[in-house]
Amino acid sequence: MNERGAAAGQSIVIAVDGTSGSGKSSTSRGVAAQLGLRYLDTGAMYRAMTWWMLAHDVDVFDAAAVAARVEEPVITSGTEPLAPAISLDGEDVAEEIRSEQVNAHVSPVATVPQVRARLIALQRAEIEQALAAGVGIVVEGRDIGTAVWPDADLKLYVTADPAARAARRALEEGGTDAAAVQASLESRDRIDSTQGGLAVPDGATHLDTTPYTLDQVIAQVVALVDESQKARSA
Ligand code: C5P
Repeated sequence: MNERGAAAGQSIVIAVDGTSGSGKSSTSRGVAAQLGLRYLDTGAMYRAMTWWMLAHDVDVFDAAAVAARVEEPVITSGTEPLAPAISLDGEDVAEEIRSEQVNAHVSPVATVPQVRARLIALQRAEIEQALAAGVGIVVEGRDIGTAVWPDADLKLYVTADPAARAARRALEEGGTDAAAVQASLESRDRIDSTQGGLAVPDGATHLDTTPYTLDQVIAQVVALVDESQKARSA
């Protein structure tokens, strides 16, 4: 086995689902970088769709209004794990999609079936492209192992204690008000798990990241990937 482990150079799909702020983004990026895989942040696509709707004065709480414009935004995702890019109609929107305005409106947009159908199709196209190029990909979101790619080689469901999640997100977003961040995360989780796509996939390994450092979680996932690859080639 080379230093990258059994997954290097293989066309595997790793599905990473879980709640906001559970550490799944940093973990997914770290695993992809370590194993030489691509990385797709599907949350960024829902965020870009939301930013477009807000910028075009669409009432994001009116599902029919959102559905009527769903085909218009041109959303392009970069899949480089150390520099994941997202562009909207040709403009880089990496910063805009992390705004408070988008945090507060993304979950209702993500419940619109036409939004999910369009973004899932784009996500599958990215995965197919990676596989056709003979490269594996780590795909992160809420419904990857259930709806986007149920045949993933490894499915993970990542969680963490609400307070730990809020503290991490507050740090990431440069904010100081962890209580407000926790309320915003919990509100998104509620919508995501009742009307959105958040669900535990069949056959997923549950990782509670609360007691671990990022490096420890990445090491656990890399070990799981190696195990699943060994099982596949046995
Ligand atoms: O992962 P992130 O927090 O950036 O996702 C933002 C929002 O996008 C989630 O709260 C959820 O509403 C939506 N989402 C989704 N399905 C995905 C990824 C994200 O519904 N696969």
